[in-house]
Amino acid sequence: MTNKDLVFLSIAGTLGDLGTCDRKQVGAVIVREGRCITWGYNGAPPGLPHCSENNHGWGWDPDKWGDDPVYAIGGI
Ligand SMILES: [Zn+2]
Repeated sequence: MTNKDLVFLSIAGTLGDLGTCDRKQVGAVIVREGRCITWGYNGAPPGLPHCSENNHGWGWDPDKWGDDPVYAIGGI
């Protein structure tokens, strides 16, 4: 793992602080050929209620798929 990889991981950890779920906060940095192409953190998709308003659901079943959904959506 390179120093650059460690920096991206550090950024992902910091981005997790922005997560809006009170169960788990996760950040992500998507890197391609050594360059960040997108980043994000967990939370409600735009226009949908946050976890505190809908009990962590958008139809997510934690018994089937785990505690909380994690999405990484990006475009190049
Ligand atoms: Zn949640």
